[in-house]
Amino acid sequence: MANAQVFEFQAETKKLLDIIINSIYTNKEIFLRELISNSSDALDKVRFELTQGKEIYQKDLPLEIRIEIDNKDKALIVKDSGIGMTKGEIIENLGTIAKSGTEEFLKELSKGDKKVDTIIGRFGVGFYSVFMVAKEVEIRSRSARIDAKAVLWRSDGMGSYEVQELDQEMDRGTLIKVYLKDDSTYFLGKEKLKSIIEAHSNFISFPIYVDSEKVNTIPALWKEPKFKIKQEQYIEFYKFLTHDPEPPLDYVHISVDAPVQFSSIVFIPKKSIIIFDTISDEYGLDLYVNRVLIQKKNKELIPQYLGFLKGVVDSPDIPLNISREAIQENRVIQTINSTITKQVLRKLEEIWEKDKDKYNSFWREHGKVFKLGYTDFQHRDMFSKLIRFNSSRCEDESGLVSLEDYVNNMKENQTEIYYISGNDRKSIENSPYLEAVKDADIEVLYLFEPIDEFLLQAISEYKGKKFKPVEHADISKIKGKTKESSPEDKKRIDELVAKIKQVLKDRITDVRISSRLSQTPVCLVSSTGSMSSQMHKIIQMINKDTSVPKQVLEINPEHSLVKNLCSMLKKDPKDKLIDHIIEHLYELALLQNGYLPNINDMAKRSYDIINKRGEFYLRLNEK
Ligand code: ADP
Ligand code: MG
Repeated sequence: MANAQVFEFQAETKKLLDIIINSIYTNKEIFLRELISNSSDALDKVRFELTQGKEIYQKDLPLEIRIEIDNKDKALIVKDSGIGMTKGEIIENLGTIAKSGTEEFLKELSKGDKKVDTIIGRFGVGFYSVFMVAKEVEIRSRSARIDAKAVLWRSDGMGSYEVQELDQEMDRGTLIKVYLKDDSTYFLGKEKLKSIIEAHSNFISFPIYVDSEKVNTIPALWKEPKFKIKQEQYIEFYKFLTHDPEPPLDYVHISVDAPVQFSSIVFIPKKSIIIFDTISDEYGLDLYVNRVLIQKKNKELIPQYLGFLKGVVDSPDIPLNISREAIQENRVIQTINSTITKQVLRKLEEIWEKDKDKYNSFWREHGKVFKLGYTDFQHRDMFSKLIRFNSSRCEDESGLVSLEDYVNNMKENQTEIYYISGNDRKSIENSPYLEAVKDADIEVLYLFEPIDEFLLQAISEYKGKKFKPVEHADISKIKGKTKESSPEDKKRIDELVAKIKQVLKDRITDVRISSRLSQTPVCLVSSTGSMSSQMHKIIQMINKDTSVPKQVLEINPEHSLVKNLCSMLKKDPKDKLIDHIIEHLYELALLQNGYLPNINDMAKRSYDIINKRGEFYLRLNEK
């Protein structure tokens, strides 16, 4: 090419291309699905611009996709009359500029058993799949802008590509010529192409012709009466929509006439595609007005906590020429949103009633996103029924209980729902706060994610039972009477309590006999509020507050360490070692509670105590 410019692919793209070119065991035919899907997107864009009354080059050109077989060049041609690309756009879309999707795609691929063909269409890099079958690709494109120039793009996918503006005119849209590799020439058959299109591109809303024969015939599925649609068609439509090779977990097909007329099909995918562990901003449903695509992934149609849903909405009650901004305030959209929300929540309830394992698999995949629903006041009751937690009653970390399960399992005098937060089940189970609760066989919800506690605070109760951090629980009523201690024991304990108050002074608010401990000598309990210490720490972190809160020190009179301390006190109330031990117990309780005491002081005291013990031991042996 005379005045062609040569560009290097961006590094990540090169890596991607390398993987694609060398992927042997993948389903190569999906390249056609990707090219057709791009053509369809481009046609949707033109159709949208036309409804907006924009000036468009060749505005009467029929909107369609044509596929031709070129036996002479051993090539396939995919041609559309879509929006086209200018030189700048073609470089940006297919070449040098880093695409966020590339990195995410590579990351997903590196997760192990994933194959290129099963994920490529989902990361905005679908075009490159053409290099599974192509030794060279030539693109000619003419933008829909009135004064644009046609452009030629060419690459063998190895490392660079050429771009050149053309002097001769061409029809609006994009023509992609795929020169097939020797091992891929079996795509040069009309029947073969037809069957691929039937399998992957049946729901494209523009006519597709293969060598002048129209092949796709299925109308907009969501507009069809439900009784006419077969289960397989829903699955096929889902696969078409998401490029997910797995069928969906379930779906809801809605068609209503009042107060707003709309139809919608939404799917719950089996697997979530949360990337980098964050809740993706890329959610929403495709919005149509009378079959014209207005916007892909419109976020106003569903609340964020149902962001795992995939699907379409079509309503004649929305103005065709609505602007993106106006969509946000549109009342019709808001009504659609709340109808879909209700129906999906009802669907989830139904799944739970019919098939618990299926529901739990939904929860494991999408629970993280779903939990954000605690902000939805309108659907609070339904939401509360659908959330799940791990609990002390589960066999392991994977177990799930509902709030309904919990309430049904409550002890006779229990009036509150107890919970405890921690990073994982193991660290939670060793918490001193659980000792007596466990002994009394009272169930405790285990919260592993910070959002869980916000959630419980937001919904505040279930069936009139308030949520309470187990560290604030007073379970003496549920446990029943514990054995009375003798007046003598009582007196000794009272003396110890007085001593502790004297040593720790205003670092604590009170000293109490604990009803929650059985294995641990002491623990700290917040004296105010209903917040757990975990939550308190999160709020401190946000406020950059490193202070140690004043709490109540609870002691376990049955613990041998406490008993020994009482005896020491009786023998010699002035013994400095007693003070040291009290300080030490306090700091250990702080540590167990997740607050950091003064580590240097603590270390010094530890050495001292260990040393005393050593001396004592030696003295014993001297005798
Ligand atoms: P995605 O379709 O998910 O954006 P692709 O890798 O398939 O990712 O395509 C990249 C981009 O190239 C598209 O977003 C689009 O801007 C552009 N493109 C590809 N094919 C066409 C086409 N036939 N007409 C217009 N633009 C196209
Ligand atoms: Mg694409």
